[in-house]
Amino acid sequence: MSGILDGKRILITGVLMESSIAFHAAKLAQEQGAEIILTAFPRPTLTERIAKKLPKPTTVIELDVSNDEHLAGLADKVRAELGGLDGIVHSIGFAPQDALGGNFLETPFESVSTAMHVSAYSLKSLTMACKPLMENGGSVVGLTFDAQFAWPQYDWMGPAKAALESTSRYLARYLGEDDIRCNLISAGPIGSMAAKSIPGFSDLAAVWDSRSPLKWELSDPEPAGKGIVALLSDWFPKTTGEIIHVDGGLHAIGA
Ligand code: NAD
Repeated sequence: MSGILDGKRILITGVLMESSIAFHAAKLAQEQGAEIILTAFPRPTLTERIAKKLPKPTTVIELDVSNDEHLAGLADKVRAELGGLDGIVHSIGFAPQDALGGNFLETPFESVSTAMHVSAYSLKSLTMACKPLMENGGSVVGLTFDAQFAWPQYDWMGPAKAALESTSRYLARYLGEDDIRCNLISAGPIGSMAAKSIPGFSDLAAVWDSRSPLKWELSDPEPAGKGIVALLSDWFPKTTGEIIHVDGGLHAIGA
C-alpha cells in the first residue's frame, strides 16, 4: 500500500510519552511510508521505551536542543542511519515554572531566556544543524499554540510561541532558495506532559469546551499528528511560512 510519505526520511524530536504530539506524528509517518529517526530529551531510555510502541523499530539519538555539542554532532549521526533527510519535526517546548501559571509580571529574564532558547531559537538551530542533510530540499514542521492571544496561565510561553511563529517565517524567507519549506501546526490544547506542567492548564483547556466549533478532545493528539504528516508530504509543495490551525476552528471564532 502506498503512503503519502513513501521514500521520505524524517527526523522527529519531542517523543517523550504516548501523549506526546510527536509520538502520533511518528506513528502516522511510519504508517504513511516514512523512515524515521527520533531524538530524545532528557534521556534516550524514556523515548526508547515509547518507541517500542511504534509500528516499526527506530533509532533514538540523544539531543538537548540547547546543547551546541549535541547539535554539532547531529548531522553525522543522522547521515550514518538514513543517508540524508527530507523532513524535520520540531515538537519541543519548555519554560521554567516561574515563567508560567500567573507569574508573568514577576518572571526573571533568566527564565524568559530559557523559554525562548528551548522553545523558539531552537527551531533555527535544529534546522541549521540538519540543513546539510536536506540537499534536495525538505519540509520543517513545528508546533505552536496560537500566539495572537494572551491566554490564561500560559504566560511566557506566549511570547516564546510568538517568537517561534516569527522564526518560522524567517526560516521560510531564508531557506526557500534551498527548496526547504518551514510551517507550523497551531494545535488546540492536548493533555501532554508539557501541558500538565503548566499550573492551571485546565482553565486554558476549558475555553475549548465552550467555544470550539468542532468538538475538541483534550486526550487526542492524533489530529495534530495528521496535520504534521500532511505538511511533511508533497501535498503542500508551495506552502511555506504558514501556520495551519488544528484547533477545532477556535481561532476563527469571536468571543
Ligand atoms: P510533550 O511534553 O510530550 O513534548 C515536549 C517535548 O519537548 C518533550 O519531548 C521534551 O523532551 C522536549 N524538550 C523539552 N526541552 C528540550 C530540550 N532542551 N531539548 C530537546 N527537547 C526538549 O508535550 P507536547 O504537548 O507533545 O508538546 C510538543 C509541542 O507541541 C511543543 O512545542 C508544545 O508547545 C506544542 N503544543 C502543545 C500543545 C498542548 O496543549 N499540549 C498545544 C499546542 C502546541
